[in-house]
Amino acid sequence: MNEMSCQFLVIGAGPGGYVAAIRAGQLGLDTVVVDSIKPGGTCLNIGCIPSKALIHAADEYFRMREAAAAEAIPGVTAGTPSLDWSDVVGWKDGIVNRLNNGVTGLFKKARVKLVEGRARFVDGKTVIVTSETGEQRISAETVVIATGSEPIALKTLPFGGKVISSTEALSLSAPPETLAVVGGGYIGVELGTAFAKAGSRVTIVEAADEILPLYDGDLVKPVRQRLQKLGVTVMTGATAQGLAGEDGDLIIETTKGEERRIACDRVLVTVGRRPVTEGWGRDELVLEMDGPFIRTDDSRRTAMCGVYAIGDVAGEPMLAHKAMAEGEMVAEIAAGHRRVFDHRAIPTVCFTDPEIVTVGLSPLGAKAAGIETTIGRFPLSASGRAMSLDREDGFVRVVARTDNHLVLGIEAVGATVSELSAAFSLALEMGACLEDVAGTIHAHPTLGESFQEAALAALGKALHV
Ligand code: FAD
Ligand code: NAD
Repeated sequence: MNEMSCQFLVIGAGPGGYVAAIRAGQLGLDTVVVDSIKPGGTCLNIGCIPSKALIHAADEYFRMREAAAAEAIPGVTAGTPSLDWSDVVGWKDGIVNRLNNGVTGLFKKARVKLVEGRARFVDGKTVIVTSETGEQRISAETVVIATGSEPIALKTLPFGGKVISSTEALSLSAPPETLAVVGGGYIGVELGTAFAKAGSRVTIVEAADEILPLYDGDLVKPVRQRLQKLGVTVMTGATAQGLAGEDGDLIIETTKGEERRIACDRVLVTVGRRPVTEGWGRDELVLEMDGPFIRTDDSRRTAMCGVYAIGDVAGEPMLAHKAMAEGEMVAEIAAGHRRVFDHRAIPTVCFTDPEIVTVGLSPLGAKAAGIETTIGRFPLSASGRAMSLDREDGFVRVVARTDNHLVLGIEAVGATVSELSAAFSLALEMGACLEDVAGTIHAHPTLGESFQEAALAALGKALHV
């Protein structure tokens, strides 16, 4: 068996693992990263990037259809557009490939060695990597577990046949004529919307009282209205019971105990993801668990000396940018820096239509924390930019402490508001007060002005509402 030793060993080359490896390499640590798939993990290969590519392509097609039906901006018309979904998927695969190569190039630049294969721990300092070419033993001073997460399957609807996970949904050769989505969370609503725009008849089945239950109802309302316009059927308080026969209708039970049947060509199950904590020799280590996740301290140290865990395997929120920030941090700690993880300003973006952005505390979250707050809200219907984009649905809301005006949280819902997430996070990270946001000259006409206006509204000095 081949033997290798290094200072810094990363298991998993997703956003957490690949960023940890690159930063460690940049800091001069002799670094090895192991993965059995192309670098980039879930996010780059079967998650964030491919889903956003398909969401965009479906939206382009939908807009052209609107123009063809003279439902777009007056004066903008188009011939009947056509859609070759397999070409769209090919375009998406090309983007993924370019990014795979980009990460490989960054590894080379940072002198990181990429080992292909599946790693299994022998002890806290050693793994055996198995690949088609055989086995390799790698030992290291510091080890980072970045094994990510995988889709949760429902017992009543195991994956296979017409029941698919997000992974298969991203590589279909054509949009299904009818699609049932079980789970109206991030993936279900993002991909459900994309398939509806691509021409599928979509039904979203959500167990909770509302889709996107993670978000405040005010933020979800415009998304619900848009889904209705797109012809998507949303069933809340409903759980999937299985298929009627091997290839039959999807059987749903409502909270009232009623049974419904949904005819569908495909069932996309998106009821959450679970951390990958099996299959890599966890039993050989002495780790503590926190529910399904590996327990870590605020520097992502596990219960074992020299073993770190980052990204989806180390806890919520299961988001790529949180994994990346943790990856960068653990590499710096291994290189001798003092770092702790500050989770106060992790933004969330839901790439629905309209998009939702949040960072920090919501009004309800602040109330639950017993903080007296002042809230400012600016509707996009009063924004010249939103009007010129022909999308006035949504708003920006700022939550601040009443006593010293410190901004605690910022939320928005609206078309293209994902790009405001940087401004929102920066304000929170820098400890901005309402006066800082209100006193910043924002370019006109931009959606960013709505952030300034929301802060002005909270100060009782709104100019445009
Ligand atoms: P992962 O990206 O899951 O990577 C883990 C890696 O570890 C994998 O490559 C796996 O092959 C490897 N691995 C596991 N076990 C072993 C082993 N034993 N040996 C070797 N390698 C191993 N997040 C966002 O922030 N924004 C989005 O828009 C977004 N969209 C998403 C859309 C979809 C459809 C999905 C599924 C997820 C999306 N996410 C999004 C979530 C995001 O993908 C994850 O939060 C992120 O990928 C987590 O990064 P990670 O490094 O922890 O793990
Ligand atoms: P999710 O947790 O966002 O949503 C799952 C939904 O399924 C919930 O609303 C839940 O109430 C519902 N559900 C659970 N069991 C059900 C059942 N039996 N029948 C009907 N509904 C049921 O999970 P997801 O959409 O699978 O996404 C997984 C994770 O991936 C997310 O939590 C997020 O961390 C990440 N992600 C992020 C983005 C983004 O940042 N834009 C996009 C996609 C995924």
